[in-house]
Amino acid sequence: MNDKSFSCPVCQSPFGYLSGIFLICPECAHEWSHEENISLESTEEKSTFYDAHGTPLQHGDSVKVIKYLKVGGETIKSGTKVKSIRLLDQAVDGHDISCKIEGLGSIYLKSSVVKKC
Ligand SMILES: [Zn+2]
Repeated sequence: MNDKSFSCPVCQSPFGYLSGIFLICPECAHEWSHEENISLESTEEKSTFYDAHGTPLQHGDSVKVIKYLKVGGETIKSGTKVKSIRLLDQAVDGHDISCKIEGLGSIYLKSSVVKKC
């Protein structure tokens, strides 16, 4: 038996039990999906990106680079504007932003070296 107990979202009974992928409340017979609860929690924790000042970043934001960076032999000056950034679900070598910079093409940046415009 599963010794975890789940409280019913309808009547708050603590005796909900797992049956397949559903949870069932013995008191009001409400059924709800266990999977839903899990994915809801994980999306809240996931995909939060912050710039160097702790401002949340989103897909398509414009940012400014706040550090002098070297990328593959090219240099990016502090203050360079970057339009429509893409936030990566999986960081590439610690870089969590993909973007295009005029004259340089597609590059990766770290969210810790940019500031939201
Ligand atoms: Zn219930």
